[in-house]
Amino acid sequence: MVEGSPNAFPAFLTSAPFDDATADTILRSSDGVDFHVYRIILSCASPFFKDMFSLPQANSTDLGLPIIPLSEHSRLLDSFLRVWYPGAKTVPFENVDQLADVIELALVKYDLEYLAPFLQKQLLSFKELRCLSVFSIACRYGWDDIVKDAARQSLTFDIQWLIGRNSSHLKYITGHNYQALLRYHAACSQAASSAGRLLPWADAEYTWIHCTTCAAHPAKRSVPGLEGRIAPRAWIFQYLDDAAAVLKQKPGANVKDPGLVVGAHHKIMACHNLSCRINGLRDLSKFIAEKYVPAINEAIDAVPLRI
Ligand SMILES: [Zn+2]
Repeated sequence: MVEGSPNAFPAFLTSAPFDDATADTILRSSDGVDFHVYRIILSCASPFFKDMFSLPQANSTDLGLPIIPLSEHSRLLDSFLRVWYPGAKTVPFENVDQLADVIELALVKYDLEYLAPFLQKQLLSFKELRCLSVFSIACRYGWDDIVKDAARQSLTFDIQWLIGRNSSHLKYITGHNYQALLRYHAACSQAASSAGRLLPWADAEYTWIHCTTCAAHPAKRSVPGLEGRIAPRAWIFQYLDDAAAVLKQKPGANVKDPGLVVGAHHKIMACHNLSCRINGLRDLSKFIAEKYVPAINEAIDAVPLRI
């Protein structure tokens, strides 16, 4: 059902084209709202209506127009008809639950399979805020590309959020699918948080390799390719350690986030080496964009979603 009770809304009034006095059929919603439509349009669009119109209609208006009573509430029926009825202005879906109801009507009840590409596009628009619902709905209808997109989006949240998140659409997926999503998240957590360890730092002349003024890392940690030959500055490790910790929780986190880079920035700007202050921030930004982010994405891309 659509979020909230239908009774919480004021009475629904139909608008064009469903107020057409010349139409030949009335669809009556469960709350008694009449939608004036043309029978030929409904028959051409939906096998369900075609079969229905082959049967005698029990109810009619005083003017003899057949009345088709439907079980859908007027607001849902209006949203559904506006997706495909000619001349109807499409209204954006208010939330993923409303869209899910329309998808169910279109694909399960009224056999409007040709609407699937449009509905898939609409569903994707909700993935950022409602990834678990989008994942569940896509699983239900076998929309594999959206399943993967939604699973990838779930990585921007930590796994505890995912486990604690409630979605009414979960009832449509199997325990296997849900477990696959959690395992995918856990595997991506490991892959993304490890992605910085083996980056080829020695390939470029970064400031943190050359500056000997600001503090080196006290534990003498090594750089891949430069083991034992050089002591990088502490701030690059601080950044990578902080980023790895964030990625452990949220594998899809943005490692360019100012809140994550600010610690290294402060260390760079406190350095007495002018070259470090001038080039350090630039090198760090370049390194993140050109090396680190691609390495994280590559690590996550290699993790399979075993649905
Ligand atoms: Zn420095």
